[in-house]
Amino acid sequence: SKFVVGLTGGIGSGKTTVANLFAAEGVALVDADIVAREVVAPGSKGLEAIVTHFGAEILTPEGELDRAKLRQRIFSHPEEREWLNQRLHPMIRQEMLAQVEKATSAYVIMVVPLLFENGLDSLVNRTLVVDISPELQVNRTVKRDNVDASQVNNIISSQCSRSEKLARADDIIDNQGEISTLKREVLALHQRYLQLSGTDNA
Ligand code: ATP
Repeated sequence: SKFVVGLTGGIGSGKTTVANLFAAEGVALVDADIVAREVVAPGSKGLEAIVTHFGAEILTPEGELDRAKLRQRIFSHPEEREWLNQRLHPMIRQEMLAQVEKATSAYVIMVVPLLFENGLDSLVNRTLVVDISPELQVNRTVKRDNVDASQVNNIISSQCSRSEKLARADDIIDNQGEISTLKREVLALHQRYLQLSGTDNA
């Protein structure tokens, strides 16, 4: 089966930016956020299970999952959150692995914001952490999303710490500099991953 690199990093660290640089080299991406939406899309088994459990009032008038309402429902009910995770997490894992197997590139980048937090590092051959300081995380996220620094700080504290991510990383990409520097780092890692995936016949 395929060589898979799990790409992670805290909020605003640059995962999407890095993933797009790998994609530009022809590497297939599997994105956990996208898959998490796919498994509850209209017509999916995931959405059917949610409607059976929570009732049709969990849907928007358009028949889509009302995420705000669902968040509200599980916020004060840990057992409901648990129920949801126990159903959705296996579906998400299965769909991510299915997308990996369908990919035709030499190796695959799996983009997973909460790779370590959700134990998804067990699905990958190698982990790559995009690293920046918490100060830069706040600056870049505030600029991108037009949110309060305090909101970003709350999310940072809810995620696995910078030091733990770095300790668990097989590879680290420093994204505190210019995009041009980042690009060079990605190209070097790409060569390394081609070798590791055993398809570099040079
Ligand atoms: P999230 O998990 O919050 O979705 P992310 O890890 O995917 O974030 P990006 O969206 O790639 O992070 O980057 C965060 C912001 O920082 C974006 O606006 C991006 O354009 C910008 N950015 C990324 N890398 C750099 C860099 N080296 N220099 C300046 N800005 C950067």
